[in-house]
Amino acid sequence: MDITRLAVGRFIPFGLDEGFRDQALEASEVESLFTILSEIEGHVDFELSCKDPLWAIRKDRDHVYSGCSVGNFLLDVLVDGTVLPCRRLPIPVGNMNQDRLVDVWLFSPLMRSLRNREDLEECRACLHINTCGGGCRGVAWGLANELLKRDPQCFLDSKPIKTGLDRRIVKIS
Ligand code: SF4
Repeated sequence: MDITRLAVGRFIPFGLDEGFRDQALEASEVESLFTILSEIEGHVDFELSCKDPLWAIRKDRDHVYSGCSVGNFLLDVLVDGTVLPCRRLPIPVGNMNQDRLVDVWLFSPLMRSLRNREDLEECRACLHINTCGGGCRGVAWGLANELLKRDPQCFLDSKPIKTGLDRRIVKIS
């Protein structure tokens, strides 16, 4: 079988029986996976694609504003008009049959909170906050029912508090 592209993403157990949570990887397993991917990247004859917020840390891309796109770069609209912050975050923030999309985007309390990384109490002092954005909000919701807590699969043992060069949280509003 010829492979031209391998896209890697994490399993998010939303909308399923809680028992499926057991099938999600532990943080250490996510780290191992990303370590393997970084070791094979560039040594395989297919394109390797991973848009995971935590992958950006592994790739040492701390100089860019990236991480979870929710609240910043995406919205999803279902066929019945329901607006979700992300296809992997099943919490309606409006409906296009009643709401203007621009109003949902700008004024939904949840959308505003999701794009404000200062609301991420466990992550806002982390050196990587502008890179990973606190990890995947879908994973935080799916595994821990928490929207503004640290990604449960974050594999850093401790939060590297800002030292020396002050890193300000980039805010898009
Ligand atoms: S502690 Fe938070 S901001 Fe830091 S790497 Fe982990 S998920 Fe990202």
